Amino acid sequence: MKTQLLEDEVLDMMKLENQFGVFNSNMMMILSDEDKAYVEKLQGLCLEQEEKIGRIQGHNTADYYDWFEWAGSHGLITRSVDYPHRDDLEIGMKAELLRCWTMDIFNPQFNMALGASVLSINPISHHHNGRETLLKDLTDLLDGKKIGCIGITEPKRGSDAVNMTVKAEKVDGGYVINGDKCYTTNSPKADICAVYAVLNEEDTRSTMVQGISHKEWDRGFTAERIGIPSVNKVHIGKTIFKDSFIPDDYMTGGPGEGYNILFEGLVPERIGIAATNIGQMWGAFSLAALYSTVRKQFGEKILRHQAVGMSVLAKYHARLMSISMALLKLADAYDAKREDLVGISPFMNPFVANASHMKEEAAQLVHELTYECMHAMGGTGVTDQTKMPLIQGVSEIAEVVGGTRNVQLLIGSRTINTMIKMI
Ligand SMILES: Cc1cc2nc3c(=O)[nH]c(=O)nc-3n(C[C@H](O)[C@H](O)[C@H](O)COP(=O)(O)OP(=O)(O)OC[C@H]3O[C@@H](n4cnc5c(N)ncnc54)[C@H](O)[C@@H]3O)c2cc1C
Repeated sequence: MKTQLLEDEVLDMMKLENQFGVFNSNMMMILSDEDKAYVEKLQGLCLEQEEKIGRIQGHNTADYYDWFEWAGSHGLITRSVDYPHRDDLEIGMKAELLRCWTMDIFNPQFNMALGASVLSINPISHHHNGRETLLKDLTDLLDGKKIGCIGITEPKRGSDAVNMTVKAEKVDGGYVINGDKCYTTNSPKADICAVYAVLNEEDTRSTMVQGISHKEWDRGFTAERIGIPSVNKVHIGKTIFKDSFIPDDYMTGGPGEGYNILFEGLVPERIGIAATNIGQMWGAFSLAALYSTVRKQFGEKILRHQAVGMSVLAKYHARLMSISMALLKLADAYDAKREDLVGISPFMNPFVANASHMKEEAAQLVHELTYECMHAMGGTGVTDQTKMPLIQGVSEIAEVVGGTRNVQLLIGSRTINTMIKMI
């Protein structure tokens, strides 16, 4: 914020503490006392950091990648996998979604960068098989000492990700990887990339591998930043593998296993994206709700003008509460089945369609809700005096990350076919 337009009391009304207050009052009757205490703990950590960075000034000027170690030291990067070296907070899908909601209200673009690192954490957590090499990567990523990314999408293979072309070749002691990935969130800043490649382009399913590439000692792994103005605080890259060498000890999946890992990762990824979209909506909604109670026009709080109070705030509050409760229910069900999901084929995961449905719904709603809440704040909504522009930016890319709307609907339609066959 170069120039402050708002009076101090209006700006102060929209402080992070009050945004959390709006969220908490909505969750009061829904969360258990234990969950409320957990959320308040996370919020307390964010409030401390908010003061340290100088509130909105910090959000506008900082390099968010400098905050990874802070987040890692408090277990704020993910709550969905076990920490092999620490045991400080709750673990599970619900714990992860409450972490997302808190972190997205704090800063949605920072949480997007954390989320991409989590996508490299997940396969390492599930496939390290006790190897020291991968356990070290896992703890470094969880602690925020290292930044991770996931390399699936390629310049010529987007929605059709399975038919990838980046080539893997088995050599003595490991694999050599050649080819380009693109849209890799974090890759220009990342230390580690969980990369997928295939031994045979004609038979991707049974030859797909996944390995953990390290920029520090593998000169064949480099990245160039690409311009995505909507999320300009996040570094997204074209990721280049040129005779990149991944030792066997850093392979998370051999030929064919890579394909299973790809699909295993998509369900938690899509539930995670839905969670993050809902957190972004709480960020946008709380700002607009707070602003509309202090801003007066025509002698009235703008909340009292029906076009704002009813047609925007009440309408989107209802939709936001509904989708929040739906995802909480899904997370509870997922946690209850957690043990049953261990070792199950990713193609038999009962949450595949629900994850796609939630992702598709949340991605569309976050775009619409953010646009409406931003404009309920008039000029203030589009300035850098609040985090609204950061939320608006992530809301623009919500549909494309983790698979577009049509891909989610394709999965949905195939599931209906299977469902009918099973009757
Ligand atoms: C900001 C951002 C961050 C990203 N982060 C990552 C990351 O960290 N790692 C990573 O690997 N990837 C990442 N991606 C890539 C993302 O997953 C892809 O962009 C996405 O899967 C779509 O691929 P595409 O862009 O090539 O679009 P295309 O596949 O070319 O699709 C273009 C259009 O065609 C439609 N379409 C395609 N196939 C079908 C079909 N069969 N039926 C109906 N419609 C269809 C799509 O819905 C879309 O509307 C990121 C993308 C963005 C924009």
